[in-house]
Amino acid sequence: METAKCKICPRQCLVDRRFQKGFCQERKTLRIAKIIEHFTWEEPCLSDEKGVLAVFFSGCNLKCDYCQNHEISRGGVGEVYSALELAKLLDEKQTDHCAIDLITPTHFADELESIFENFNCKIPVIWNTNSYESVETIRRVSKFVDIFLADLKYANNTLGQKFSACTDYFSYALPALKTMCQEKPDKFNENNLMTSGVIIRHLVLPGFTKNSLDVLDIIKQHFPKRIISIMSQFTPNGKSTLNRKITPIEYKLVISHMQKLGLNNGFVQSLDSANGTFVPDFK
Ligand code: SF4
Repeated sequence: METAKCKICPRQCLVDRRFQKGFCQERKTLRIAKIIEHFTWEEPCLSDEKGVLAVFFSGCNLKCDYCQNHEISRGGVGEVYSALELAKLLDEKQTDHCAIDLITPTHFADELESIFENFNCKIPVIWNTNSYESVETIRRVSKFVDIFLADLKYANNTLGQKFSACTDYFSYALPALKTMCQEKPDKFNENNLMTSGVIIRHLVLPGFTKNSLDVLDIIKQHFPKRIISIMSQFTPNGKSTLNRKITPIEYKLVISHMQKLGLNNGFVQSLDSANGTFVPDFK
C-alpha cells in the first residue's frame, strides 16, 4: 500500500519519504547495509548448513542506545538498491539458502510487498523484527512472510522510553505479536526446518533481569505454546549506560524462571555468546 504520509509503523511520522526521512532515518529508496550469505547465527530450526540469506536493511524505527548494529540502525551505513536489483539478487541466490532473512525490514514494507508480489519465492521468508509494528502492517506483510522472528524487548513502556526512544513499545509489541501468531501457525518440513511460524526472541539486558522475568510471564500468559528464544549475547557498544555483559547469576535466574513456568518450547543461547562474534562487522 503506497502512502505519501508514512504510517507504516507506530511512529506514524506522516512524512512523505520520497522527499524526507522519518524517524527511521530512511527515505523510500531501499538501502541495504550488508548481505550475508549462508548466515548460520539464527535459531537452529531456521537453517541447516546452507544457512539463510541475511539482508540487513539500513535504518530502524527504534533508537536503542545499546544497539549492537548501531552503524546500520543510526549510523547511515548502506547502499541503495532498486526493487529490481533486490528481486534479481533474491531470485538468483534463493536455491543456495534455506530461507531469506529480512532483518529490520519494517520501514521498507511497501517496497518489499511489491517485490514479493512479483517474485516466485521457493524458500521461507523471515521477517526479523523488533516488534514495534502496527497490526495493519503485520497483516499486510503476512501475505509474503512465512516466519516472524520477533523480539519482545520489554514488558512495559517505561523501559522502551528509557532505552529505545519509544514511549509505547509494549503497547504495540503485544498486539503485533498476537497478530503474528494468528497469521502463522508453526509448521516444519521433514528435516525439522521451520516453514511457517513465530519465534519470540528476548535479549537479556544487564541489570534488568526483572524485565526478563516479566517478559517470560507475559509469554506464558499470551503465547504459552509458541517457540521462544532467550538470548545472552548482549555486548556493550560503548555508547550506553548498559556497559557490561550479563552475569552467570542473572542468566541463571532468567532460565530458572523459564523452566518454572514450563516454557520448554524453544532455544536458550549459551552464556559465552556474549563475546562479540554475534555482532556483524558492517564496515
Ligand atoms: S517507517 Fe519510518 S517514517 Fe514511517 S512511520 Fe515508521 S519511523 Fe516513521
